[in-house]
Amino acid sequence: MTVQPRLPPWWWDEAGADEPEEALEGDVDADVCVVGGGFTGLWTALALKEREPSACVVLVEAETCGSGPSGRNGGFVHGYWASLAELVPLLGRDSALELARAGERIVPAVRALGADDVWLREGGLLMVSASPAQDAAVEHAVAAAADAGVAEQAVPLEADAVAARVRSPVFRRGVFFPDGATVQPARLVRALRRRVLDVGVELHEHSPAAFRSGEVTTARGRVRAPEIVVAINAAATGWRPVARHVTNFGSYVVLTEPVPELLEQIGWTGGEAIVDARMFLHYFRTTNDGRVLMGSGSGPIGFRGKLDARFTSDGATAARAEHGLRRLLPGLADGRIERAWGGPIDVSADHLPFFGTVPGSGHVHYGLGYSGHGVGPSWLGGQILASLSTGRDDEWTALALATRRVPSLPPEPLKRLGGGVVRSAIMACERADEDGRRAPLPARVAATLPRLFGMEIGTR
Ligand SMILES: Cc1cc2nc3c(=O)[nH]c(=O)nc-3n(C[C@H](O)[C@H](O)[C@H](O)COP(=O)(O)OP(=O)(O)OC[C@H]3O[C@@H](n4cnc5c(N)ncnc54)[C@H](O)[C@@H]3O)c2cc1C
Repeated sequence: MTVQPRLPPWWWDEAGADEPEEALEGDVDADVCVVGGGFTGLWTALALKEREPSACVVLVEAETCGSGPSGRNGGFVHGYWASLAELVPLLGRDSALELARAGERIVPAVRALGADDVWLREGGLLMVSASPAQDAAVEHAVAAAADAGVAEQAVPLEADAVAARVRSPVFRRGVFFPDGATVQPARLVRALRRRVLDVGVELHEHSPAAFRSGEVTTARGRVRAPEIVVAINAAATGWRPVARHVTNFGSYVVLTEPVPELLEQIGWTGGEAIVDARMFLHYFRTTNDGRVLMGSGSGPIGFRGKLDARFTSDGATAARAEHGLRRLLPGLADGRIERAWGGPIDVSADHLPFFGTVPGSGHVHYGLGYSGHGVGPSWLGGQILASLSTGRDDEWTALALATRRVPSLPPEPLKRLGGGVVRSAIMACERADEDGRRAPLPARVAATLPRLFGMEIGTR
C-alpha cells in the first residue's frame, strides 16, 4: 500500500529551513507590496529590485516562503518549447514563438542562483508515449516544432533511442526537448529567499494578509503601498477578479528510497525529466542522491477555491502515482516508496498562466493559472508583474501571458460538478487505453466535452 501523503515534503527535510522572518507588526509604507512568498512572489520581488534598486518592496507570506506548491513540486523547470503544439493554435505562430523564446531565459536565471546549490540538472525533458493513444501527442509535438521552423527544440526518438536514455517495456517512442531541467525546489526557494533578503526586500512571514487597493492588512500590521502584487496562486482561485478563469486540481507525488543501482540497470542516468503523454500526466525524475520521484496530476478538483484536505491527504491520487511508477518503470519494482505528498495546482481554462491588473483598481496586479507548470514560468511571471507594478510597457507585458483574452470556466457549482464528470471520464479513457481496452461510450463523449467549449482539457 502506498505511503499516506503528508507534509512537509521530503525536499524540506533535505534542504533544511532558515529562521523565519518576523511577522508584520504596525504600519509600514512601501512602493510595492507583494502578497505571497512562493516562486512568483519571490521572483517578482527580485525583479522589482533589479528594475528599481531604491524601491521599498515589502513581501508578506502567510506561512513561510515556499510552504505552498513552490516547496512541494516535482522540480521540473522548463519554459514553453514542449507546449508549442498547443500554443500555436491558441496564440498564433508568432506569439507562440515569442513566448517559447522568452522561456529560454528561465534556466539561465536559475543557474545564476547557484546551479549546485539548487541541484540544477540540465538533462532536458523527455515526453514518452506509454500507450497507443499517446503516440499522437508525441508526433504532434514533433510536427509543431518542425512546422514552426524550430525542429531542434523537439527531437523525435524512436523506441531504441528512448531506451538508450531509459529502458521500459511500455515506452513506445518519445520526443526530447533539450530546454528542460530539474531542481530541488525547496533549495530553489531557499536560494531565492536569501537573495531577496540580500537585495533589501522587507520580508514578513507568518503574516496571512487581506488586500485591497492601496492597502495590505494582517492580524497585527498594515502595509500602505500604491502598487500591490497578488502572488498567492491557488489561494486566489475563489477571488472574484480571477475566479471565472481558474480552478484547483490536486497533484501528488511519491518518492522512493535511493535506488542508484536500479537506475544504472535501466540506464536512466542522464538526469532527464520525463512525462508521459496522458492528459492527467505522470511526471518523473531522479534526484542527486539516486531517488525517483513520480507524480500524478490526477487529484481531486476543488470547490469555490477552498484549499482543504483534498489537496494534501488524498491517498487515492498518491496510489495512482505509485501505480504509474510500477507500470512505467517496472525495473524499479524493488524500490520502496518512502514519502508521498501533494498540493493544489491552479488550472486555467486554456492551461496557460495569466497576468494582469484588476480593472478599476489601477494598481492591484495578479498572476496565476500555471496549470501544474509554474516552476519555470513563475520567472516569466516575476518579470511581467515587476513591469506591471512599475508602470512599464515592455517585452514582458507584451507577452501573450499578459495580453490574451483568457477563456472562462463555468460558474460554481457547475465548475466543480462538470469538472468532476470530465475528470472521471478522462481517467476512465486513459486507464482503458493503457489496458488495451476501448473505454465505454459515455466516458469517451464526456472526455471530449471541454474541447467543444474551447477549453484545453480532455483526452489527447
Ligand atoms: C505536487 C505538485 C507538483 C508540481 N510539480 C511541478 C513541476 O514539476 N514543475 C512545474 O513547473 N510545476 C509544478 N507544480 C506547480 C508549481 O509548483 C506551481 O505552479 C508554482 O510553485 C506556483 O508558484 P506560486 O508562487 O505562484 O504559488 P505558491 O507556491 O502557491 O505560493 C503562493 C504563496 O502565497 C501564500 N499565501 C496564500 N494566501 C496568502 C495570503 N492571504 N497572504 C499571504 N500569503 C499568502 C502561500 O502560503 C504560498 O506560500 C507542481 C505542483 C504540485 C502541487
